[in-house]
Amino acid sequence: MSVKKIFLNEEDIPRQWYNIAADLPTPMQPPVGPDGNPITPEMLSPVFPANLIEQEVSRQRWIDIPTEILEILKIWRPTPLIRAYNLEKHLKTPARIYFKDESVSPPGSHKPNTAVAQAWYNKKFGIKKLTTETGAGQWGSALAFACSLIGGIECKVYMVRISFDQKPFRKAMMQVWGANCVASPSKETNAGRAILKKMPDTPGSLGIAISEAIEEAVTDKSGKTRYSLGSVLNHVLLHQTIIGLEAKKQLKMAGEKGVDVVAACAGGGSNFGGLAFPFVLDKINGEKIDIIPVESATCPKMTRGPFAYDFGDTAQMTPLLPMFTLGHAYVPPPIHAGGLRYHGMAPLVSQCIVEGLVAPRAYNQLKCYESALLWARVEGSICAPETSHAIACVIEEALKAKEEGKEKVILFNYSGHGLLDLGGYEKYLSGKLTDYSLSENELCDSLKVIKDFPKAKKHKSGKW
Ligand SMILES: *Cc1c(COP(=O)(O)O)cnc(C)c1O
Repeated sequence: MSVKKIFLNEEDIPRQWYNIAADLPTPMQPPVGPDGNPITPEMLSPVFPANLIEQEVSRQRWIDIPTEILEILKIWRPTPLIRAYNLEKHLKTPARIYFKDESVSPPGSHKPNTAVAQAWYNKKFGIKKLTTETGAGQWGSALAFACSLIGGIECKVYMVRISFDQKPFRKAMMQVWGANCVASPSKETNAGRAILKKMPDTPGSLGIAISEAIEEAVTDKSGKTRYSLGSVLNHVLLHQTIIGLEAKKQLKMAGEKGVDVVAACAGGGSNFGGLAFPFVLDKINGEKIDIIPVESATCPKMTRGPFAYDFGDTAQMTPLLPMFTLGHAYVPPPIHAGGLRYHGMAPLVSQCIVEGLVAPRAYNQLKCYESALLWARVEGSICAPETSHAIACVIEEALKAKEEGKEKVILFNYSGHGLLDLGGYEKYLSGKLTDYSLSENELCDSLKVIKDFPKAKKHKSGKW
């Protein structure tokens, strides 16, 4: 009988995160203020604790994972590496398809890998409360879970009002884990009150929710509240590299000498970076691997946006970051892959694109749902709408391998399950979903907000 799932023993869980900033062939450009001057770590200290800021700017290649964090990650880690035999058979491909199953975490996605680490570092720094925003609720539920398991740290989540009303189950998860989840805009902050006064019936937005969460963190007079971000930043991607490090060991156990294709969907870039960065290192060291971040064609920052300095958030609270972006004010149409609606791409992933180390792709939602259905019907599990983008790409790559007659090894990240996203499946099945494409005019308009920002340079070694 062939082996379907490759398990690591608990003692083989990686003890260090991998920091790709140490190995990028050309240096990252620093975050800057609107005047073009680099941001200093002190400027970030009202928002993030010093130990996480230290990780954010670190160039150290390997960073130890504290034992207490490992103890909590062990609730679901190491996650299995699974061979998608049924999909291979269905596609009649000679490719061997593996996926890292991050859906087995209690909140159901990769997000708690960083949520647990962030809660731990904040607690260690003496912080008593974390604030954050959430759209569809995946990040909010991951942070609520993390604060609950770490203990001694309150969690306050500003959830975009329309999701708060339409997605009661994510909110219930946060409450089960003891978090305080409020609809944003709320009456609890100046930002929220000002907006409610002008627009009492607003559905809310991520930008507003971020403003509220940051305001609560920086105005707490005790100085013991900080803000937490679920993707995009260097330290978040760092915490996610445990995924790729485990996968590398597991591929070896499966008898694979290498991998030809690595793919993951990319919203802000953390689940992609988490799986891919250890393989990007192999590529820097000479291996030939196609590494593909997959985005939604409705939010095509990597495939159609410029590499430019832009705010990391719609509320313009972060420093300017060098990233592929559609402009921080871009509001994509309401596709169901909520996690892929972010306007920009993590600076570390963006720099890998500039270097040519990774090559992005975009897919429309109908094709992704079609792939998700095929997946559910042959492999059994119902994936998150975000994850379906990676699956669409994998199917394409597996068919290409068939055409070329090559026995390729394909690895992807199964970033989450879709059991709380069945509304999207329901709409797809009843023919109510459509594709949206962004016109060149809309793209130009959306980029106007960044035209006077400092310019980012495309540093490229020319090796890839
Ligand atoms: C949030 C989310 C994503 C996108 O996250 P990034 O790591 O920011 O790219 C992908 N898949 C699932 C299941 C998610 O919850």
